[in-house]
Amino acid sequence: MSAFPGRAAFLAITASALASCATLPQPDETLDTLAQDYVALQLAIGEKERGYIDAYYGPEELRERALIELSSKDLPQLEILTAALRTRVERYTDDGVEGTDIDERRARFLVAQLTAAYTRLQMMQGAELSFVDEAQGLFGVAPDLPSLSTFEPIIDEIDKLVPGGGEGGDPLWQRIDRYSSRFNIPSDRLQAVFEASIAECKRRTMAHVALPVSESFTLGFVTDKPWSGYNYYQGQYASKIEVNTDLPIRLDRAIDLGCHEGYPGHHAFNALLEKNLVNDRGWTEFSVYPLYSPQSLVAEGSANYGIELAFTPAEQIAFETQVLAPLAGLTSSEIADYAALQEALSDLGSARYTIASGYLSGDTSTEEAVALLQKYQLISPERAMQSLRFIDTYRSYIINYGLGRDMVREWIERGGADTDTKWIRMERLLSEPSLPADLAK
Ligand SMILES: [Zn+2]
Repeated sequence: MSAFPGRAAFLAITASALASCATLPQPDETLDTLAQDYVALQLAIGEKERGYIDAYYGPEELRERALIELSSKDLPQLEILTAALRTRVERYTDDGVEGTDIDERRARFLVAQLTAAYTRLQMMQGAELSFVDEAQGLFGVAPDLPSLSTFEPIIDEIDKLVPGGGEGGDPLWQRIDRYSSRFNIPSDRLQAVFEASIAECKRRTMAHVALPVSESFTLGFVTDKPWSGYNYYQGQYASKIEVNTDLPIRLDRAIDLGCHEGYPGHHAFNALLEKNLVNDRGWTEFSVYPLYSPQSLVAEGSANYGIELAFTPAEQIAFETQVLAPLAGLTSSEIADYAALQEALSDLGSARYTIASGYLSGDTSTEEAVALLQKYQLISPERAMQSLRFIDTYRSYIINYGLGRDMVREWIERGGADTDTKWIRMERLLSEPSLPADLAK
């Protein structure tokens, strides 16, 4: 018998030590050590589901720890570890017990993220949650599911904005699709249009927000993805932005995606978190971004709100008319009308939650869901299929865009804020451990 345990026995000991210290608070544990446990645990969960970890740029040793100490854990064991870690962190969330106010916010953030991880682990094991319960568990917010009939008056109003209506005319979605296709950006102009658009989003953001000097991004065009655009944050203030060209891209999407994926959206948000929280404060938990978590509601909500913060409707129309349309080789005479149509269509956004809820629960078939998306989102069958593919992949994540934007807008514009105040609040939101619950304050 050897005096030293072999490798297998050693791993068993460290795993059981981790499990026991996961349940019993250790006298020397701090939020910093708990944060390290959190990162290793999130990375271990990420080993069980592709796409669960959206970004990680923290210490390599925590990734190794996840692989060595936690890779043998099955889903029920990870669920137990998650609940136990949440209990240990909760000690830091009570007022007047331990830590300063910012430490309490840090702890509350960890608790909310761990609640989401716990929910996701249950889903990975087959738990069937309603759409609303799933959204609450993963993103910390319960969305309303409006009855589809409430959208009929909006659709009637939209009908009046689009040419070709009246008796015997084509279906409204088809007229909108035909009209909107006038604004399709030719594929050989995409690069130039998007570069100009992102540069303007950046210029407008940097007039108000100080970003790390070395921040940078790359831009690429891809196909066969469930999303229309994506920001892969790489760490060290660098992002890889990708735009999906499966379907024609319309002119308004250049500013939408430039602000959403770039500035002041995901790229700026991640760079500010890395600078302020990971580097300046040493909060390692922000170096990992689990996709199915309350952080996503703040990320998507602020990225979408960032479009209207960076451009008033008139500024967007002016920039598209004077710069983007000529770059795309498109006529610019109808851009204001097209913008009015897009604005009207945005009122249909939450119909998608109701349709997704029915589809994900199995009450609505694929064919019915496609038909409902066409009818209540006023999109072509191809775009409805793309929308359904997104819903299949990301499920209740869809609430983060519209509901998240509305919550961020309400918080930033509270009390009738002027432009400077809005940007100051936006920068604060993007630089602190912000949760959906903070937006309700
Ligand atoms: Zn996004």
